[in-house]
Amino acid sequence: MNSKNEEIADLCRQYMMDTYAQSVPIVRGEGCKVWDAGGMVYLDFTAGIAVQGVGHCNPKVVKAVQDQMATLNHCSNLFYNENAGLLAKKLVEMAEFDGGKCFFANSGAEANECLIKLARLWGHEAGKYEVITMVGSFHGRTLATCAATGQSKVQKGFDPLPIGFAYADFNDIESVRAAVTDHTAAILVESVQGEGGIIPADHKFMKALRALCDEKGILLLCDEVQCGMGRTGEWFAWQSSGIMPDAFSLAKSLASGIPMGAVVAASSLANVFTKGSHGSTFGGNPLAAAAALATIGVIEEEGLLERALEAGEIFRDGLQQYVEKYDQVLEVRGDGLMIGLVLDAPAADLVAKCREMGLLACCAGENVMRFLPPLTVKDSELEEAIDILDEALDMLYGEDAE
Ligand SMILES: *Cc1c(COP(=O)(O)O)cnc(C)c1O
Repeated sequence: MNSKNEEIADLCRQYMMDTYAQSVPIVRGEGCKVWDAGGMVYLDFTAGIAVQGVGHCNPKVVKAVQDQMATLNHCSNLFYNENAGLLAKKLVEMAEFDGGKCFFANSGAEANECLIKLARLWGHEAGKYEVITMVGSFHGRTLATCAATGQSKVQKGFDPLPIGFAYADFNDIESVRAAVTDHTAAILVESVQGEGGIIPADHKFMKALRALCDEKGILLLCDEVQCGMGRTGEWFAWQSSGIMPDAFSLAKSLASGIPMGAVVAASSLANVFTKGSHGSTFGGNPLAAAAALATIGVIEEEGLLERALEAGEIFRDGLQQYVEKYDQVLEVRGDGLMIGLVLDAPAADLVAKCREMGLLACCAGENVMRFLPPLTVKDSELEEAIDILDEALDMLYGEDAE
């Protein structure tokens, strides 16, 4: 690494808790590109882990944030806030939740906590509090969302975790049905599992979940934190399955990197929370809401829902050739620009090799390489990424590889 890169890495290692596997320090971003402190440029196919949906430093978002920052950035939820109202209206319309309402938070975990609390309050008088989640899911790092996450690696050492969670197998409706009890309040599901390995929920599974919830009188909740906001070619990934959840969570790309989470609830849940039931100091402040409104504006004006589908197809087609070419590449999966390359090898090796060659991607589980480029990614950038990947695969697994 270059010396400025080393200096920053040393600083972070000395003073920051060692919770992340970090690599090169990134100091600047523009569209699909980022630069490290030594001046090396990378194609960013992590997009800040699905946060920069409209690209790094999108000029329209930058302008909206700068203007709002200079006008009023925070005034607390003691006062009405037009940006938050406009954003809530927009999200309710995007979901086609007639009579629905929103709650704003600061992160994905906090939005999911809100979903869990909403389900508990809704079910309280009937003695319903349990939430069924899926094996391999990821819902966040607070205690309740760790408990909701169906992966023991995020829970280990943090017990006792909050009770009231049960786990079922993803894409297996019989397993979910078997987990329902008299205490079940809700089923919480990622429309596309992200951290678990880029695994879309079958449309048949989503329809069966909706039917099961209707039959048993329980809530269907979707975690759209990673897959929402256009990444799969719909505003929300559940929309492609033809069903409607009772509520869903958003965060990651909602406000293009200004921390923001949201819960969007259908009319049946719109008035479960009443004054004092729930809150968040920063939640939905004028700055974050302005960033989200600008982000949504860009997606609409630039036709990025269609573009996510088109670009996703180009990229998946490009990756597909490597399934035939390399024994270590097993499968390409995902929807739109949420794409996983399933390997018969540790994904971390390929991620590191690509990074050395100027392409940033991340892992999803041990053996899946995850690509989440901005929805604004250009055809030339997709092609460049496909070529870099070929070279990296060849170096690791080609005939002349060591
Ligand atoms: C990232 C993620 C979360 C957690 O979001 P944070 O903002 O890190 O709290 C929750 N659910 C899903 C599906 C995620 O991808």
